[in-house]
Amino acid sequence: MPKERGIEKMGRCKICNSQATSNSVYCDNHQLAYTNIEEAYTHWRYGLDISWIEYLEKISKLRGTGEWAKEVALDILENI
Ligand SMILES: [Zn+2]
Repeated sequence: MPKERGIEKMGRCKICNSQATSNSVYCDNHQLAYTNIEEAYTHWRYGLDISWIEYLEKISKLRGTGEWAKEVALDILENI
């Protein structure tokens, strides 16, 4: 799989197909969810000592995780 793909102009969110935010493969909502996931991981990592992948698997199954975040977590897992 190629490591990097050029950003297509007027890209579409890879999850919901809405218009993507510039420099992102996600739309505003999914990009925001992604940022939140990354940020939350920095906290989880210290307390639980889990890997990024384990973390994504965990939050994708948590009831408290929002739909946007779940979709992003699953999308990342699919593309690892
Ligand atoms: Zn989206």
